[in-house]
Amino acid sequence: MKGTMMHYPLTLMHLLERAGSLYGSVEIVSRMPDKSMHRYTYADFYRRARSLAKALQKAGLKRGDRVGTLMWNHYVHLEAYFGIPAAGGVLHTLNLRLHPDEIAYIANHAGDRFLIVDDVLLPLLQKFRDRLKVERIIVVSLTGQPVPEGMEEYESFIAEPAEDFVYPDLDEEEAAGMCYTSGTTGRPKGVVYSHRSLVLHSFASAMADTLGISRHDVVLPVVPMFHVNAWGLPFTCTMVGAKQVFPGPHLDPVSLLELFKGEQVTFTAGVPTIWLGILQVLEKNPGQWDLNPKLRMVVGGAAAPESLIRAFDRHNLRVVHAWGMTETAPLGTVSLLKPHMESLSVDEQYAYRAKQGLPAPFVEVRIVNEQGVAPHDGKTMGELQVRGPWIAADYYNRPDSRDSFTEDGWFRTGDVATIDPEGFVKITDRTKDLIKSGGEWISSVDLENALMGHPAVAEAAVIAVPHPKWQERPLAVVVLKEGARATEEELIQHLAPRFAKWWLPDGVVFVKEIPRTSAGKFLKAKLREQFKDWVKEREGLRPD
Ligand code: ADP
Repeated sequence: MKGTMMHYPLTLMHLLERAGSLYGSVEIVSRMPDKSMHRYTYADFYRRARSLAKALQKAGLKRGDRVGTLMWNHYVHLEAYFGIPAAGGVLHTLNLRLHPDEIAYIANHAGDRFLIVDDVLLPLLQKFRDRLKVERIIVVSLTGQPVPEGMEEYESFIAEPAEDFVYPDLDEEEAAGMCYTSGTTGRPKGVVYSHRSLVLHSFASAMADTLGISRHDVVLPVVPMFHVNAWGLPFTCTMVGAKQVFPGPHLDPVSLLELFKGEQVTFTAGVPTIWLGILQVLEKNPGQWDLNPKLRMVVGGAAAPESLIRAFDRHNLRVVHAWGMTETAPLGTVSLLKPHMESLSVDEQYAYRAKQGLPAPFVEVRIVNEQGVAPHDGKTMGELQVRGPWIAADYYNRPDSRDSFTEDGWFRTGDVATIDPEGFVKITDRTKDLIKSGGEWISSVDLENALMGHPAVAEAAVIAVPHPKWQERPLAVVVLKEGARATEEELIQHLAPRFAKWWLPDGVVFVKEIPRTSAGKFLKAKLREQFKDWVKEREGLRPD
């Protein structure tokens, strides 16, 4: 027997219409390159997003055509988030932190026909313009500079009113967005999000037991809009009618704190390195920042050290640890306590909050190793595999990458994890960062988090270095806080009570900075390369 309910397509157009009709007076605020503030409302956004959709259609955009964006986080990018899919096109956010060759490769691989670019990013575009196959380039004039010849100006492009614009009759399975994984090795791979997946992802993200976003929130995504759709926040916020605040290109800790304070932000999200920087500024002058007491910060993209969660609690700021990937749209797991855990000891509560947490509804997780599917014992490590309605089932045009997906329909994350009896997932490593010492696995993430709990340590990455006897051994690469001191011996002693002896790093090297990926994560592959002869050198042997 079939249900008697309507088949109503889950598309982003509904979110746009809802915002236009119900939240017209809610503000959307952007900080521009010159640090001035741009303010308008959902009513303005609605009108302009539809004008963009109409203009794209008039310019010849066909269903499924890709439109690249090379932009910072601001209101025009939000217009693109909705205007492109509303025209039947596919929003393809390009990561401006990548090498120009790589951006050109990605735009061409995706087959972008149009490109919308911030004028402040034109110097970057010039580096690969000649290799791009796009037909039309539309420039957003943020600084008022004249638009180069052969390109169009955004305001003129969308100038025509769109009251008469009619949405295409889209199927919910049609593509709405596209994002490439930044990939530390190999060519980047494209994930294509359907309307349905983005709508369901927005519902799941808004839930009280996940990110808990509502129209009472003021949301500032620090995570760039070119990185997994700013973790879906622009869609989720538009669905619920939350006020949105965009930082533009100003991502340094002081600028962000000013914006948190000025707009009384209640929800923000970004990678741990952002929060480590903010913490250092907060700690210098704790009384200076009059932040909203409701401010909570989602930390993901890399493990949030327990020490970071504790430190923010001391400033009454709540860190919510979450895990996800480009391939998971990205919401996978969120670490919020279950009610009965609130009576656990403070240390036990922090231990749970530092895990990656429980899967969102409709995200299924399992751990697989050589023995098969692992038990939920909180100990057995294996590869984390996931499936669900907003998890990629394939990469765009990459038949060589089928081995990322299992035959029985799961996505292989490449992360190594455990799941405990409560169902909390804990990421212990990425497959390629694991340290295999004498046939046993050592979690680099656990060691890093413990090191970052030492008062003198600003950042720590633990990597595998080749070893003649043990195949690999851990080496800690550490950046000390400004003006702080610590010796190798002291840091190893700090770890000793927490880990088995064979887990302790063979050494600690102090560096000025840890190389990062375009998303701000530690680039461990580079460190591995840099220190590959460390064991031989320490033993006084010459490298081959
Ligand atoms: P990439 O880092 O390859 O550019 P993504 O941005 O999609 O691509 O990153 C996904 C990866 O980031 C995950 O596979 C995982 O290794 C890591 N990650 C994300 N969130 C967390 C977290 N909370 N803790 C630990 N690792 C995380």
